[in-house]
Amino acid sequence: MKELGKVYFGTNTKMYKNIAQTVDFLTRLDTLTTDLSRETLELFVIPSFTALESARRCVPPERIALGAQNMGWEDEGQFTGEISPLMLKEVGTQIVEIGHSERRHVLGETDWMENQKVRCALRHGFTPLLCIGETGEQKALGLSDEVLRTQLKAGLHGVTAAEAARLWIAYEPVWAIGVSGVPASPAYAAEKHRVIRECLVELFGAAGARIPLLYGGSVNPENAPELIPLPNIDGLFIGRSAWEAEKFDRIIRSCLALLE
Ligand code: PEP
Repeated sequence: MKELGKVYFGTNTKMYKNIAQTVDFLTRLDTLTTDLSRETLELFVIPSFTALESARRCVPPERIALGAQNMGWEDEGQFTGEISPLMLKEVGTQIVEIGHSERRHVLGETDWMENQKVRCALRHGFTPLLCIGETGEQKALGLSDEVLRTQLKAGLHGVTAAEAARLWIAYEPVWAIGVSGVPASPAYAAEKHRVIRECLVELFGAAGARIPLLYGGSVNPENAPELIPLPNIDGLFIGRSAWEAEKFDRIIRSCLALLE
């Protein structure tokens, strides 16, 4: 992580914050983190689609990058309910989150669909944040590494090493996410990040060694400082524990203090 020179902290607010709540959250977060140098910190928030435009107006992109929680893979067409990359660009979106476990396991997305989205996001100049992770059942069957490698190889099929320089990956074990999630132990997370890094290097050579890898899944103020110093953990992708700006700021600071 230290080699990259940047630490990544972000949150996806899922289907929780409306426009006013998002603006309030971002304004507070921006004020709280105003003294933190963006040379070493990449801070991002992924709000609901409806909040993106107001969110963009309330914080500059170089202080808090904004992402979309999903994206269709065609510019336009007969895709009721999908959002076009052009529409996301129009409202200043920088990052596109792809393949969150809820998209895969609740809404039925496949690796093929994630791959279409990754390639579309790259074509349009976004930073794709591809989320991967094994289910509890796959873990129990000893299939975690195979699942991660499959999700990477299928999800990143056709991506070049030059394009890989713009990718971010989040490892979010499905069993670790959300209110009934159990956070991965630091040792387990480090081992899976090693597997992911190895696969990325296999796919992209030196470029694969530089792709930021974020851990997500029940990150909280207690375990964040244990996770962030680990090799191949370049940042944290946080849900519930980041949805109050003050708490998110405290997590970021406790981690940055460890890395100084
Ligand atoms: C998530 O949903 O991606 C997530 C990491 O949530 P939480 O931190 O609440 O487990």
